[in-house]
Amino acid sequence: MTGKMTPAMRQFYTMKEKHPDCIIFFRMGDFYETFGHDAEVVARDLDIVLTARGKDREGNRMPLAGVPYHAAETYISRLVSKGHRVAVCEQIEDPKKVKGIVKRDVVRVITPGTVIDESMIGSAHARYLMALCQDGGRRRVGMAFLDISTGEFFVEERDADGEDMGVVLSEVERYRPQECIAVSVPPALERRLSEEGVVVTTFREEAFEPARARTALLEHFGTHSLEGFGCEEGMDTAVRAAGAALIYATETQFTALSHITGLSVRLPAEQMALDAITLKNLEVTATIRGEGKEGTLLHVLDRTKTAMGSRTLRDRLVNPLLSVAGINRRLDAVEYFCGNTAVRTGLRDLLRGCADIERIAGRIAYGNATPRDLINLMTSLDAVSGIRTFLPDDVPPEIADACGALGDFSDVIDLIGRAIVDEPPANLKNGGVIRGGYSPDLDELRGLSGSGRSWIAEFQQSERERTGIKSLKVKYNRVFGYSIEVTKPNLHLVPPEYERRQTTANGERFTTPALREKETIITNADERLLSLEAELFAGLIQTLAGYTGGFQETGRAVGVLDVHAALAGVALHNAYSRPEITDNTKTIIRDGRHPVVEEMTPGAFVPNDTLIDGGGDQVLIITGANMAGKSTYMRAVALITIMAQIGSFVPASYASIGLVDRVFTRVGASDDLASGRSTFMVEMQECANILNNVTDRSLVVLDEIGRGTSTIDGYAIARAVLEYLHGSGRQGPRTLFATHFHQLIEVEGSLKRVRNFHFAVKETGSEVIFLRKIIPGATDKSYGVHVARLAGVPAKVTKRAEGIIRDIGNGAASSGKGGPKYTQMLLISDNPAPPVHNPAVEALRRIDPDTLSPRQALEKIYELRKLAGNEEGSE
Ligand code: ADP
Repeated sequence: MTGKMTPAMRQFYTMKEKHPDCIIFFRMGDFYETFGHDAEVVARDLDIVLTARGKDREGNRMPLAGVPYHAAETYISRLVSKGHRVAVCEQIEDPKKVKGIVKRDVVRVITPGTVIDESMIGSAHARYLMALCQDGGRRRVGMAFLDISTGEFFVEERDADGEDMGVVLSEVERYRPQECIAVSVPPALERRLSEEGVVVTTFREEAFEPARARTALLEHFGTHSLEGFGCEEGMDTAVRAAGAALIYATETQFTALSHITGLSVRLPAEQMALDAITLKNLEVTATIRGEGKEGTLLHVLDRTKTAMGSRTLRDRLVNPLLSVAGINRRLDAVEYFCGNTAVRTGLRDLLRGCADIERIAGRIAYGNATPRDLINLMTSLDAVSGIRTFLPDDVPPEIADACGALGDFSDVIDLIGRAIVDEPPANLKNGGVIRGGYSPDLDELRGLSGSGRSWIAEFQQSERERTGIKSLKVKYNRVFGYSIEVTKPNLHLVPPEYERRQTTANGERFTTPALREKETIITNADERLLSLEAELFAGLIQTLAGYTGGFQETGRAVGVLDVHAALAGVALHNAYSRPEITDNTKTIIRDGRHPVVEEMTPGAFVPNDTLIDGGGDQVLIITGANMAGKSTYMRAVALITIMAQIGSFVPASYASIGLVDRVFTRVGASDDLASGRSTFMVEMQECANILNNVTDRSLVVLDEIGRGTSTIDGYAIARAVLEYLHGSGRQGPRTLFATHFHQLIEVEGSLKRVRNFHFAVKETGSEVIFLRKIIPGATDKSYGVHVARLAGVPAKVTKRAEGIIRDIGNGAASSGKGGPKYTQMLLISDNPAPPVHNPAVEALRRIDPDTLSPRQALEKIYELRKLAGNEEGSE
């Protein structure tokens, strides 16, 4: 059957068999062609023309879609961003030198987690490949994260926590990997991962086997054990994940990846736990709606000057510290830069000259650095040496250590300066990269080629004079080499010794023995010139690859300096203050602001205080109308805590933060329609996660929890959760609890560490003004009716509503007297009432308030009133 196929098609099928899950980019001359089903996918996803040529294996016309090779990177990156994998199949012989079909082979596989071309990846983000592994008993889960572009590689091992693997999702939210490899992933997790934009790739089990994975790591690092990386004890599944990640990376990159020089361990005891929902809710690095940086804490804080600084800041933001000394070390650095403006601005000027040293180092080790990369490296290393001499001696340890880690690369600067021209072309294709004087051989060849060219110029001139053909030209053409071009009207002047080579539309081309001889010299010189330049460049890259470790360390140190200087700049610009970090469990904030909202309400943000002193105040119940400012206030407390623990100044006039081990935030009734779980189910799962993991050192922010179910259930659950968090004997976590269940305010009376707060509102006539100021005590008014009146609800209804509120108020205040039915309703959790089959209640249950317009809501109330009236008569 294959008899009719061309040899190239046979090659294609061989490649496809080797890489069945990849789109094969098959190099043919100046194009990458894709065939068959690949071509259909490429045509659809890249919106390019689908044609057909030749025959496929079955003898049908073969679909074909091609892209020009010089634009391939863009096309590949678009395919990869859509979750495809691309295998690049190159001609690995020079087509000019072989007869028949040239050999081809796959030289790279590009997957979402292993893209490294600069044009394909943004620089501010690390780009992680993640590997996931569970032990046989599914008790532990190991995760490895590898950024192939910089060589950063770390692992974590955690207790597994059930089917939906929240512990994995948290790390996914933290590090936002592009791709996750695993033997298999539970369907629920797989769905969540793909919602987060992570491509899940099934990778063979053998790579995750303990012995195989371990050997891969040991061989790669050239060590006898993993002890030096802290990976021997209790890190079995993490090591398996790391080994598999390395195997996968090596297999897709087809190279040794020598820039992956180490593996580090991230321990839960060293970093604040931030689960996926909390990171999302607080909009730390991404907004709730999507990827955009605007509106995030990262966006407010990221004033870094370098890609390395930006990546370091992002990493710090999702990994706040848990050590007073460690945080203070960073704060000292920020404070230093705040107080030394000249040093800060001088440093930032120098940082501006630093390209992405870490990634250039990666490309050097990988072997795909361009001539321009080397020039950028040289100027960056020059800036680095400027920084080393610029920073004074009396800087705090954090800065001194980073400064000490900046390498002295004067030999590299000198080498690149001697080897590469000032403004080299983008690639080596046409030469012109190596500077004169670097290699005597190269200079000689250039001389030869140059003198050959001037001989040609002189030859053209003398032939014009000799023959009298003024328009005679000596031209170069890739196929025919040099020839003398004579146009038709002048052909009669051609001397007899000219040998005809070719006829063109306008005239004819000739050569002479002398020209032929020079042509050979020039062409040979040019060819040798190009290959010598390539050789010299490769030698240079090899020398530079020996410095990989030093470049990486320097790059990281630049990132650290950049972050501190940037945070100082933000602190001054936004009037932040240095937080006090303590080992106790108090949170004291004076004039705290929400760092993001304050930027959106310039000059109008109302600061607020927070006091959770571990004694009388542990749980703050916050009431207030919709839009009063409850969420903003609570989120500000959480964000200030996170900022303090990454070592940043905070938006407050004073803050004292007792170390927080975990921040939990939950917003009631969040929509999770995509995953098909009911709102209430989601709320309760999130709640369970908090209650099961919270410690006395945690900070819990609950916003309208219990909203997703009926009032009675919601209230009961909210109250039970609150009691649990309050703790019976010892103190529980610092808790901020916003609620619309006004009945909850009475908890203050029965639990000793609960305090009520509310947001002040000013009423002037029919107007309600939110003052955004939090004040002690519960709110005594519901502005719902007020809002209803403003919305044009008939006075009869709003008056009646006020009456009902009064009745309920009496009932709640003097339980048992004024409002027996209501009291019974509230106590249902303590003393379950028999189920009531009331048509009004049934109808109420069926209502989805979020879908109703005010008018529809009003109609519903009338309807319910009618139903209730039928059942119980009038009141
Ligand atoms: P709630 O949670 O009580 O419904 P939000 O916290 O969502 O209210 O606040 C509603 C809006 O009020 C916010 O979007 C913000 O623009 C504004 N706001 C909140 N707090 C403040 C504040 N302290 N100062 C100024 N504006 C604020």
